[in-house]
Amino acid sequence: MSILLGCIADDFTGATDLANNLVRNGMRVTQTIGIPQHGLNADLDAVVVALKSRNLEPEDAVAQSLAALEYLLSQGAQQIFFKYCSTFDSTPKGNIGPVTEALMAALGTDFTIATPAFPDNARSVFKGYLFVGDQLLSESGMRDHPLTPMTDANLVRVMQAQCTLQVGLIEYQDILAGADAISSRIARLKSSNTQIAIVDAVTNDDLYRIAPALKDLPLITGGSGIAIGLAANFGLQAHPDSSKLPAANGYQAIISGSCSQATNLQVEHFKSLGGAAYAVNPLDLNQKSTEQLLQEILTWVQPRLLLGSVLIYSSATPERVKEVQSQLGVQAAGSAIENLLGMVAQGLLGFGVGQLLLAGGETSGACVKALGIDQMQIGQQIDPGVPWCYAVAQNKPLHLALKSGNFGTPDFFTHAFSKLRKI
Ligand code: ADP
Repeated sequence: MSILLGCIADDFTGATDLANNLVRNGMRVTQTIGIPQHGLNADLDAVVVALKSRNLEPEDAVAQSLAALEYLLSQGAQQIFFKYCSTFDSTPKGNIGPVTEALMAALGTDFTIATPAFPDNARSVFKGYLFVGDQLLSESGMRDHPLTPMTDANLVRVMQAQCTLQVGLIEYQDILAGADAISSRIARLKSSNTQIAIVDAVTNDDLYRIAPALKDLPLITGGSGIAIGLAANFGLQAHPDSSKLPAANGYQAIISGSCSQATNLQVEHFKSLGGAAYAVNPLDLNQKSTEQLLQEILTWVQPRLLLGSVLIYSSATPERVKEVQSQLGVQAAGSAIENLLGMVAQGLLGFGVGQLLLAGGETSGACVKALGIDQMQIGQQIDPGVPWCYAVAQNKPLHLALKSGNFGTPDFFTHAFSKLRKI
């Protein structure tokens, strides 16, 4: 078996977001958690290797990305896609620039593009400036991001600061003029020794117009938006079979460790419909062992699974979170809760849960790790950026969805399961 497109994503829920866009446009996709130790378990058009390299030292991010590249080439990948965040999360040290240049060198290519444009999520690039909704990146909440504060919206400048190669721009008038104009612009940029080009794009139509001009590039870099046009370059069209997963079975459960606004609303909505919900109080960890708390949760959950979907959540308001953090410490609280919720996930599978929603990027990572999952087949979209996935965990079939904190409509915890029934 040989794949068409090999993808390297710099974080976990971003990988799922990319995989979702590829599936929706006709590719059969598996997401792997790091480089998989076992063979791939389905006929595939694309593989997305999920790394956690966004905030590593650049040398480590490069080393991991090159290892992923080697793996994807060994699977027959004809083109490589490096996926990063649609808000271009990075610092002057990297890691978008260094990883891009390392992949270019390894592939022996002298040109690639970079565009985080993702109109479905209101990320657009115009004259090289990145907008988040109606705001410049540098005026959006990303300005205050704790790890990768983005204080300059001009992506040519931002990328150039991270690169040794020359960075240029493919402007919107070329995008409007179509693939031939974009290809000519690429040729002109190459002849003036520009090797990386930021690409303007405001609408999905723009992204579909750009894609044919990328057909022969060994490497494409960007957010998940630009991926929507790539399946057609391989002669594939949107098709319901590409998102087909095995039939779902087993009890339904939700684990939520996200404290984002959207998740808090989803928890409230689920409870307002009378859903069975267990609130984990992290401060109990001051008096009880993790094992004790786990037993209490599982004892409460088991009989309720027979009656319908069950929610276990530590999600809380910002005030409650601050209180917990001041008593337990920010990092310590985060990892203690993630550890507990990972063990809850293991317990749930032991009870016969076969359909599991996970809310929160870090929380999803912790649960998927605790379940020993190293690959997931990507299925139908629930809400933008969140598809149903299928994995084998503890030797049993499991349907799961990993929801990044701020994704999903308020009724996500109920309507996700009703979508699965239709598969
Ligand atoms: P999101 O995608 O919304 O950012 P994450 O799961 O990535 O969600 O991050 C939430 C973090 O907050 C996790 O480390 C989690 O363990 C931690 N956490 C969850 N509930 C609480 C709480 N009640 N108090 C403090 N921290 C919490």
